[in-house]
Amino acid sequence: MSGRFDGRVVLVTGGSSGIGQAIAVRLAREGARVAVNHVGPAESARETADLVEQAVRECVDAVRAAGSEALLVRADVSDAAQVAAMTARVVEHFGRLDALVNNAGIQVAADTEALDVADFDRVLGVNLRGAFLCAQQAVRHFLSAGGGAVLNVSSVHQVVPKPRFLGYSVSKGGMANLTTTLALEYAARGIRVNGLGPGATVTPINRSWVDDPVRRAAVERHIPMRRAGESGEMAAAAAFLLSDEAAYVTGQTLYVDGGLTLYPSFETTWSSE
Ligand code: NAD
Repeated sequence: MSGRFDGRVVLVTGGSSGIGQAIAVRLAREGARVAVNHVGPAESARETADLVEQAVRECVDAVRAAGSEALLVRADVSDAAQVAAMTARVVEHFGRLDALVNNAGIQVAADTEALDVADFDRVLGVNLRGAFLCAQQAVRHFLSAGGGAVLNVSSVHQVVPKPRFLGYSVSKGGMANLTTTLALEYAARGIRVNGLGPGATVTPINRSWVDDPVRRAAVERHIPMRRAGESGEMAAAAAFLLSDEAAYVTGQTLYVDGGLTLYPSFETTWSSE
């Protein structure tokens, strides 16, 4: 593997599991030193806390096994003060910051008429406000350092509505504008901002179906390529968008979704014939 990220420092939010962990490990394999943000188990049940701690340890071990250095930084991305402290700590520890991956995300399922307003706010707070807060801190640093890159891990639900997940859909729709607006605002100042739009991917966020063969088959039937994506496939696209090979790419969202954004119900002709 080439060292496309040799000497660079990348902060990955929500980096201790799933897509974020895969991105952290992939970038480490390509030479990056990685700051892995995790939210911490403070409000979790003990069992969940153990799982989080285990995932965090596994991620750090995997980055180190890739021959790189990992820094664990605990912060809730929806909290402005914690995000500022996290960014300062990363820059202080590594002496630089070259890229930010806004990956932290949550979802809450509920019929909209019954959706708890606090849950709507919580999802927007992590997925969209959190991405803004992290980008703002990173951009401040990039401006003084002469450039940098932001990758927003969005979703196919940036463009595909997701009924019963209103906060999630709205947050990812907002991410489209976060990506394009920041990209335009900072294009002339050496900062690139792109989005990654995963389709259904095998990660903990999808624990409701990934380990259940019947439910998984039901999900995969809807995907033109007839299979869910793997975190590593998301990480490969993320690495490209953050690398200098994408030096002329900004403001774009790359969907890595097995064709899920291609209007799958049109796969067979059902009209005009
Ligand atoms: P995941 O649950 O493994 O990852 C989400 C991460 O965000 C976790 O590590 C979690 O601890 C962290 N997080 C949650 N709240 C946080 C907070 N307040 N501060 C900091 N970190 C916080 O699931 P994943 O599938 O790897 O999701 C990663 C991203 O990919 C999310 O933004 C998600 O919306 C997006 N995505 C996932 C899929 C999929 O099918 N898995 C599809 C499209 C988009």
